[in-house]
Amino acid sequence: GRLRERDSIGSSIAVRDAVKRYGSFHAVDRISIDIEPGEFITLLGPSGSGKTTLLNLVAGFQSLDNGEILVDGKPVHNVPTHKRGFGMVFQSYALFPNMTVSQNVAFPLRMAGVDRATAERRVAETLEIMRLTEHATKSPSQMSGGQQQRVAIARAIVRRPKVVLMDEPLSALDRRLRESIQIEIRDLHRTIGSTILFVTHDQGEALTMSDRIAVLNAGKIVQIGRPLDIYRHPIDRFVASFVGESNLIEAEILQKRGSTLTMKSRAGYVFNAESRDTIDVGRATVLVRPERIAVSNEPTTNSAPVSVTSAIFLGEILRIEAQMEGGEPLLIRCTDMADRPLPTIGDRLHVSWGAADCWVLA
Ligand code: ATP
Repeated sequence: GRLRERDSIGSSIAVRDAVKRYGSFHAVDRISIDIEPGEFITLLGPSGSGKTTLLNLVAGFQSLDNGEILVDGKPVHNVPTHKRGFGMVFQSYALFPNMTVSQNVAFPLRMAGVDRATAERRVAETLEIMRLTEHATKSPSQMSGGQQQRVAIARAIVRRPKVVLMDEPLSALDRRLRESIQIEIRDLHRTIGSTILFVTHDQGEALTMSDRIAVLNAGKIVQIGRPLDIYRHPIDRFVASFVGESNLIEAEILQKRGSTLTMKSRAGYVFNAESRDTIDVGRATVLVRPERIAVSNEPTTNSAPVSVTSAIFLGEILRIEAQMEGGEPLLIRCTDMADRPLPTIGDRLHVSWGAADCWVLA
């Protein structure tokens, strides 16, 4: 069976005031982050936001222009990559084509001079964890992309590193395979207990896999938190629209009573929202996730009419694009269509949401 107990616990990683410049351009612009021992942390951001550069600084592939990096409290930013002892996985599998699967996985142990009996045991265990045992004698060219990436992961963890760095490891794989390997990596993380620093531009992947997500934009961490908190309580419009699908509704604050705001959208829809300390009067942007919008064919208390501009049946959900009166677009995802027919373009529907369904952005 698979290993159940953790045979190592990961290291803490502290990045303090890290700066990496290319000329006058700040690819990493004063980033600080504290990663807990054994944490699965994802750097998420659009292309060019500095994810890979930050990972490379931690790996030692690039050197800091300012700041420091501590692993278990000890500075490592002057330690060469191979002495940091991290496991690494990249988008390209970079397997040795002339070696079998088990020779590939054994390679780091050979380099480290681990004795043969121990190495064989370690390789067998690791192949088992990655469900590669039956492929042990194959060459990489006989395997699919997903299998090759599992070999690359096995090779990265065979020494039970305290830190594993992964840079877009699943980007080259198709969606189904990606989703199944996401789950495998999560399980692997539970099994081996290493600290994992994972880079992706795919918000769904980040939400699925991470203990915490650090959202990067333009070389800075704009928000760091648990997936659910980031999804529900994004700090600004950038995070709200980068993580998940969103409706960002401009609204006027009509009244504040206790912790409840009464707001009115441009289209004239009046709704309640939970207040934030920072919000008082004037205008605000309100995030309403598409799955939090209630839809009906007839007007209900507090509903607003919309007209359908597109409706796509996606299997488990129906994705509706609509326009509020006044032309504001609204994206809706409904799971409960009961026996209703699919709406068609031009249909009139009635939408509503409550205070608990929206989040006022600061
Ligand atoms: P991607 O997902 O596209 O890899 P990223 O978030 O990982 O994006 P980085 O690769 O870290 O981003 O790059 C951050 C910025 O630094 C980009 O604007 C990039 O063009 C720039 N950059 C990276 N490496 C160099 C380099 N060697 N010289 C000059 N600019 C660079």
